[in-house]
Amino acid sequence: MHYISTRGQAPVRDFAGALLAGLAEDGGLYVPETWPHFSPADWRAMRGLPYAELAARVIQPFAGGAIPFGVLRRLCHEAYAGFGHPAVAPLVQLDAGLWVQELFHGPTLAFKDMAMQLLGRLFDHVLTERGEHVTIVGATSGDTGSAAIEAFAGRERVDIAILHPHGRTSEVQRRQMTTVLAPNVGNIAVEGNFDDCQDLVKAMFADVPFRGEMHLSAVNSINWARIAAQIPYYVAAALCLGAPDREVAFAVPTGNFGNVLAAWAARRMGLPVARLVVGSNRNDILARFLAANDMSVRDVEPSLSPSMDIQVSSNFERLLFELLDRDPEATAAAMRGFRESGRMAVPEGAWLRATRLFHGFSCDDAATEAEIRRLHGATGYLADPHSAIGIAAGRALPCGHGVPMVAVATAHPAKFPEAMMRATGITPPLPPRLADLYDREERYTLAPNDLAAIEARVRAIAQRNAA
Ligand SMILES: *Cc1c(COP(=O)(O)O)cnc(C)c1O
Repeated sequence: MHYISTRGQAPVRDFAGALLAGLAEDGGLYVPETWPHFSPADWRAMRGLPYAELAARVIQPFAGGAIPFGVLRRLCHEAYAGFGHPAVAPLVQLDAGLWVQELFHGPTLAFKDMAMQLLGRLFDHVLTERGEHVTIVGATSGDTGSAAIEAFAGRERVDIAILHPHGRTSEVQRRQMTTVLAPNVGNIAVEGNFDDCQDLVKAMFADVPFRGEMHLSAVNSINWARIAAQIPYYVAAALCLGAPDREVAFAVPTGNFGNVLAAWAARRMGLPVARLVVGSNRNDILARFLAANDMSVRDVEPSLSPSMDIQVSSNFERLLFELLDRDPEATAAAMRGFRESGRMAVPEGAWLRATRLFHGFSCDDAATEAEIRRLHGATGYLADPHSAIGIAAGRALPCGHGVPMVAVATAHPAKFPEAMMRATGITPPLPPRLADLYDREERYTLAPNDLAAIEARVRAIAQRNAA
């Protein structure tokens, strides 16, 4: 399988090349040159498979040529062996016709683990084959950093340095990062805010000698392999509920559009997905787009669901490329216009096509809290603020015709103790394997908001591991 850039000006790569490159050189995103397709008989043959086995079969056509099936299968088994539920991504029925699929049983209790646990192993495999080594640097305000650290801890070919704003992440989030003591992991607490951390990461990538010396790499949400690794759980849920002989719908709490794009990809591969509901908090750019073709940037406002506080959904470019009939010039022009004017011009026909499948939903913090309370009262189920928006979205926009609606739950409620306490009077306990998180040893280094100081810390982390 070959990968092409949505903007048409970057080298064509195979799966391994797209994995290591992340973003394409022309600023575009890598997408498969053709979409694999499974027939109804193919889907039926996957029913009842263990999750890791299903994942290997669904991802295999994307990795084809670059990673042998036997290797992919082993990596999938290793990636999902550490999850806290034997089904990996279990379904829970909440109401007639409404299910929740829990994607938070990984090591950091958020859905990022579903992809990141496999990504870490894919990196190690590809780098070993090539005899190469990389240093991953990233900035985090919470979830992504901890998922990356858990995924890369102890990997042989990768060092990872994650910057977080000192004193500005929640204690659970900080401890999930700083209590990972593997020698190839470094946490840097920056005396600054999240934007300072992001600027420092950008500055490290822009420092060409440093970038070369350290073989810098990133694992942000636009990496194609992350999307590929998110497709199998949609397949698993749909097969469980009767696909390919019955349609299903999904409601997805959305930020960068990576999770819901994977659901779209599953449909493109032949899975009968009748509807996709995109859930947003008050940062509702996607809901405005779907309701009125208004994709215009506004200021980001903080909410109870911080992983969905976005201005621009980076993965939307992949859908745009498809809506524009895979025309790279038109995609590049639309993205350029968006960057310059803050408003994306999507042709009416393309927008109409999007609205046949995608429906937008948004709710503010008060409505999110009300949904957490209502759901707990009605069913006893505890949904975190992100998941509650997905559930509210699925309830608000059912497909009808007996099509089951699956809302994906993206974080464990124990990650948001204050919000849960306010809404339900309950502080959900951490799962047993994390119960001692508050007693574990922490390790991080404090650094000023200064490029030279940060680069020295990153170099020290890489050398510590090499020693
Ligand atoms: C990252 C994240 C999201 C948003 O997912 P996207 O793929 O960026 O749309 C939603 N909920 C939680 C808990 C997350 O960590």
